[in-house]
Parts: sequence; C-alpha cells; structure tokens
Amino acid sequence: MADDRAERIAEFIEPLRVAPGSEVHLARDFDPGYKAGVRKKKDGEELLRSGTELLADYQRRLAAQDTYGVLVCLQALDAGGKDGTIRHVMSGVNPQGVRVTAFKVPSAEELDHDYLWRYARHMPARGEIGIFNRSHYEEVLVVRVHPENLRRQKLPAAARKGDVWERRYREINDWERYLTDNGFRIVKLFLNMSKEEQRIRFLKRIDVPERNWKFSSADVRERARWDDYQWAFSHMLSATSTEWAPWYVLPADHKWFTRICAAAVLAHTLIDIDPRYPQVSDESRKQLAEAGRELEREAPKGAAADPYAASVPGSGKGGGGKRKHSGGRGKRSGKKG
Ligand code: ATP
Ligand code: MG
Repeated sequence: MADDRAERIAEFIEPLRVAPGSEVHLARDFDPGYKAGVRKKKDGEELLRSGTELLADYQRRLAAQDTYGVLVCLQALDAGGKDGTIRHVMSGVNPQGVRVTAFKVPSAEELDHDYLWRYARHMPARGEIGIFNRSHYEEVLVVRVHPENLRRQKLPAAARKGDVWERRYREINDWERYLTDNGFRIVKLFLNMSKEEQRIRFLKRIDVPERNWKFSSADVRERARWDDYQWAFSHMLSATSTEWAPWYVLPADHKWFTRICAAAVLAHTLIDIDPRYPQVSDESRKQLAEAGRELEREAPKGAAADPYAASVPGSGKGGGGKRKHSGGRGKRSGKKG
C-alpha cells in the first residue's frame, strides 16, 4: 500500500522534472497553467492534506534518525507564490525541525566572502528540513540579468574572465553533489508563473489595501526584464538539473496546485530517504523494560498499571499486551506528583 502511494507520487511529479542533460525552453516545455487533470481547488484540498500529513510523519522520522538533512530551494519571480507555498506545505510539520531562510541582496559582510558562503552558513543540520526562500541560484539569475551585482562581488580579475556562468553552474553542481554525498538531499523547485498571472497578482497587491505592503515598484522594474529572466531560468535549469539534484518546474498559475506539487516532490524525496526510527539495542531494551516495571509499580490504587501496553503492539517493554497491576504493595503513599 505504501509502495502504491510512493509510486503514484512518483508518477504525479514525473512531468515536472527537468531531465538531467535536457535543454529547457521554459515557454515551450512547461505550461504554468497545468493542473494534471485535477480540475478544481476543492478537488485538490484532500490531496494537499494527505500530502502534508505524510510530510509530518516523515519529518518526525527524519529528525529521530538524525542522519539525513533535506534542503528545499525555492525559486520564482516576484509574486510567484513562494511564501504561500512554504506556509501551506509546511503547515503540518513540527516547526522545530524546519528552518526557513530568505535570501535578499547580499550584505557587505556577505560580499566579503565567496558567493556560496552565505548559503552554506544556512544549511539545515542532519534531521532538519531547511527551506531557502531564494537560494544560491540567485547567483546565476539576478546576478546574470543585472551584471552590476557581479561587479559588487569583488572577484579577482581571473574569476571574472571566461564564461563566469558556465563556471558557476559547475561549481553549484559540484557543491550540491558534495552535499548529497554527505547526506544532504536537495529539492529544487521553480515556481513557473505566466506573465499574465504576474500582472494580475501585482494588480491585486495594488487594489487590496491589506496587500499593499507586498507591492514594491522594484517588482515592476524587474517585470520589464521578464524575457531576460525566462532566458536565464531556461539556461540555469538546463545546466543544473542533475541526477543527484534535479529541478522540478511547478506550474504556478494556480496557487493551490503549486502547493500540491511542492508537497509531492518533497514527499517523494523523503520516501526515497525512508528515514527510520532508531533501533533500540538489547541492552537499552532491558533498561526500558526495567523502567517500565518501576513506573507500573507506582500506579495508584485502582489505576491500570500501564494503560498504553494494550494499544501498542510490541511496546518495547518485552511481553507487550496487558500486564497485571504489579504495584500496590502497600509501600507507596499513592500521592500524586
Ligand atoms: P517578497 O517580495 O515576497 O517579500 P522576495 O524574496 O522578493 O520576497 P525581496 O526583499 O522583495 O524578497 O527581494 C529580495 C531581492 O534580493 C530580490 O530582488 C532578489 O533578486 C535579490 N537577491 C537575492 N539574492 C541576490 C544576490 N545574490 N545578488 C543580488 N540580489 C539578490
Ligand atoms: Mg519581492
């Protein structure tokens, strides 16, 4: 059954995956309005709910196992829906196991380092899911579209020579491979919105007072560079979708559908990692059983010695099942606390 679910998720996300080595032309290859046959938002709600429940379960195991970490990189143009995707997809998971980092224009301190430095600093630890709201991919997107960003990076002359972008693609791929080899899986999501949908979302930010704060005139200036960004995204997707860290292009014109896709891709990765609760050694199991007996002896008169034993098969205390009241031998006061 679980395999069945894993297979359905894998099938669902397959059309979104950028095949490593393929050449992407965003406009030709990916439809921002795609809905995979799910017609209405309402039909998608159940899907998203089961997706987020599954994520919550896997995240608990990921944390308990403490061996793998997962980094989710979210890229999109302004109003592409990154914030809402994070909010909805992560709604069921324990906030302690997730860290979100938003990357803005680099600070002076950050510019004093190599360009990957600030991203490495915010990597999730083992057992955690880290989310990059914008990521190291800005280094080949906004920095490419606006070369003045590159000039601010204080690179030595040699590092500005030749094909800077090809070199960065390679460095990014190498870095991600290094992370993957060391137990950090990378989930790369590009929220692919149409130009018309962006126009409508910007207008909504202007028209609805509660959304005014979200609007910035800089966003409209960036919109003017739409074609340059599409071009930069296409190149980036072609060059950096790898076997170890493939890109997924999520249709982003219907926010509810984007969220289902994001949950599905993340779930796919977690299912693949298949984190397990740590196995308890025989010695620890004996200690658990002893501690269990001790607690049972403390049961107040009339209370079940262990109300849980019946409901937890193989409850780790050996024996399992219902145990008889073994306490109440007259030594305890029966006081609470
Ligand atoms: P929102 O607008 O939804 O709050 P946002 O991610 O757009 O979220 P902003 O503060 O509006 O956040 O924008 C951050 C800006 O920082 C973006 O324009 C982005 O291109 C820019 N940025 C991010 N990384 C870099 C970088 N390495 N070099 C230059 N600019 C960058
Ligand atoms: Mg913005």
